[in-house]
Amino acid sequence: MIRSPRAGRRRPVAAVVFAGLLLSSMLALTACFEKVPTLIMNEVAERYVKLVLAVGRHDEDFVDAYYGPAEWKAEAEEGEPVPVEELLATADLLVHQVQTAKGPRHDFLEEQLVAVHAFLLKLDGKAMSLAEQAEHLYDIEPEPRDAAEFEQAIADVEALLPGDGSLRERVQAFRETFRVPADRLSDVADAILAETRKRTAALRELPQGERFETSFVTDKPWSAYNWYKGDLHSLIEINTDLPIELPSYLHTLSHEGYPGHHTFNSLIEKHMVMDRGWIEYTVYPLFSPQSLIAEGTAEAGVGVIFSDEERVAFLQDVLAPLAGLEELDFAKYDELSRAMAPLKYVRPEAARMLLDEGASEDDVAAFMVRFGLVTEDRARKYIDFIRRYGAYVYNYPVGEDLVNAHLDKQEDRVAAYFEILMPEPIVDEEETRSGPRAWTPSRLAGKEEPKRRRAH
Ligand SMILES: [Zn+2]
Repeated sequence: MIRSPRAGRRRPVAAVVFAGLLLSSMLALTACFEKVPTLIMNEVAERYVKLVLAVGRHDEDFVDAYYGPAEWKAEAEEGEPVPVEELLATADLLVHQVQTAKGPRHDFLEEQLVAVHAFLLKLDGKAMSLAEQAEHLYDIEPEPRDAAEFEQAIADVEALLPGDGSLRERVQAFRETFRVPADRLSDVADAILAETRKRTAALRELPQGERFETSFVTDKPWSAYNWYKGDLHSLIEINTDLPIELPSYLHTLSHEGYPGHHTFNSLIEKHMVMDRGWIEYTVYPLFSPQSLIAEGTAEAGVGVIFSDEERVAFLQDVLAPLAGLEELDFAKYDELSRAMAPLKYVRPEAARMLLDEGASEDDVAAFMVRFGLVTEDRARKYIDFIRRYGAYVYNYPVGEDLVNAHLDKQEDRVAAYFEILMPEPIVDEEETRSGPRAWTPSRLAGKEEPKRRRAH
């Protein structure tokens, strides 16, 4: 058990009991005990943040964002990395700590710490299947998909785009007409971010002062990235290596900005960190359940701030002229997207074949070319992504489906969406345990949330 020195110092004062001061002493005692959980939690939270920073020394992707005290980061970067074995012991101790009580902070920290612990086991050389990674790192249990589902989707796409040449070439040729010219990318991005921000702010109050900047980059393993810098500020990077189609540009920037990652992060910083001092939220370990929630909400977000008609109208009337594109068949683009929707599971399936079934890279690439409708070269690049990020590939499709399934069950989809981003504070019997309870993937899936099993 971690002892809080500040709580320890207050105890004897409160324990001084003699006749004339009995009442005031009792009050002091009560006040003292009410403070204890918070003080202990602050210390556990600090140790969690420092643990995540220390794990980051072993994997450059692990710490996705950090905006806590600069000296903690400097401290973590000093000297040799702390051995994995030592970090495992710390993770073990902290999981035990947070499991001793319930409360919104305990719940979140336990969820995150179980993932950090599992990631450390992986670093320590433990073989972990993709399904095990999904469970221990992201709190999900994805089912393998039926190939018939992919066959059907391909048949549907065939029916939409009949003609000569390979299906991939036909799809590509159709999508090519939506390609935003390089010299228009910046103006179109500005228009998209302004509109999505306006729509998001009309639905949920954004923290005052939240802001972002955009930058165009090349040679990255992703198509866009939101780097959260703290102080309500994000850097949104857009990779221009690949053709950018107008409808997917809207989707991507909504994913990274509004109401996606930037919105999620700035709401967390405002309500958890600035208002409550919950320091655990200043660090974001990429390979953790936080990512499933982040990717799921970011994928579902554009459908929350636009109806289908509003989205098509915005694309057609505002963005297409700005991009210098004419006579685009947006209805058909949407039809095609719907037909292709089941194919979003092709990549996780490719990952399962590669990592769990021991399929050769040639076979996995052929599978992706056939069902993912990508070139051989793209398929090979994606294999590199799978090797680097493992079960992270599940976060997009599984996260999106979990979020949408949850929203479909609620009366007010919009309110429910923003409730996932920033939950309303709950108050338990003990004042000290009140506050927003962050959503976990299990809770989103409607499960009872039994204590999560730690990997061994
Ligand atoms: Zn994302």
